[in-house]
Amino acid sequence: MIVVHDLHKHFGGFRAVNGASLTIETGSITGLIGPNGAGKTTLFNVIAGRLPPTSGRVEMDGEDITGLSPHALFHKGLLRTFQIAHEFGSMTVRENLMMVPAQQTGETLWNTWFQRSRIRAEERALRARADEVLDFLTISHLADEKAANISGGQKKLLELGRTMMVDAKIVFLDEVGAGVNRTLLNTIGDAIVRLNRERGYTFCVIEHDMDFIARLCNPVIVMAEGQVLAQGSAAEIRANDAVIEAYLGT
Ligand code: ADP
Repeated sequence: MIVVHDLHKHFGGFRAVNGASLTIETGSITGLIGPNGAGKTTLFNVIAGRLPPTSGRVEMDGEDITGLSPHALFHKGLLRTFQIAHEFGSMTVRENLMMVPAQQTGETLWNTWFQRSRIRAEERALRARADEVLDFLTISHLADEKAANISGGQKKLLELGRTMMVDAKIVFLDEVGAGVNRTLLNTIGDAIVRLNRERGYTFCVIEHDMDFIARLCNPVIVMAEGQVLAQGSAAEIRANDAVIEAYLGT
């Protein structure tokens, strides 16, 4: 689905991504790991249109998508999850979900207030979809909680839920497990696997927890110093001398 070819992202003279090439197969849950500073987040940001590359190419289903805006990529079904922005904390969990399509299409739902009946029908449909998403993620009980008041792990589930409000093809998840307890991490892992199997989502996941990666991801791609160092199953990666050395060197 995604082919990254010889991608570079330099900050001044610093080569955060330094000639990375990789493929994310349709239908896979691909793990992206590597020591701190390896360039994983920068690579995500370039693929997802948040940062322009210095050079190189990103393709989606054979089409050159290099440098497209997050908005344009969203319409192609390429999504990257983001922390719930501060200003959405005072909205409920359900409202956070209902905002997604309006935000991403740039449509000003609130400006068309005079088209009341249309808005009411849209709102009903959005609400029904949001409730389906909450049910899928087993967090229906949080629907009316303020987003600011839910736990870190629950916020991660909400971030995942936001991708389900639209028809995503590929979702980039950054550090799903950071600060999340084991039980919720398992719930998040289950949701990822079910979205993959039942809805055909492809995933690319950055995560430090190797047990989580091993349970979910195949293949696992290892980055170090801005390049792809190795790729294989979690077991192959764990036994790879170059990978062990890259981690020990940090
Ligand atoms: P990872 O996600 O693998 O930990 P990052 O992509 O966050 O790695 O960072 C790779 C390197 O690029 C780090 O050394 C980081 O300090 C540097 N870097 C990231 N963003 C910037 C930026 N905007 N300006 C300068 N250096 C940056």
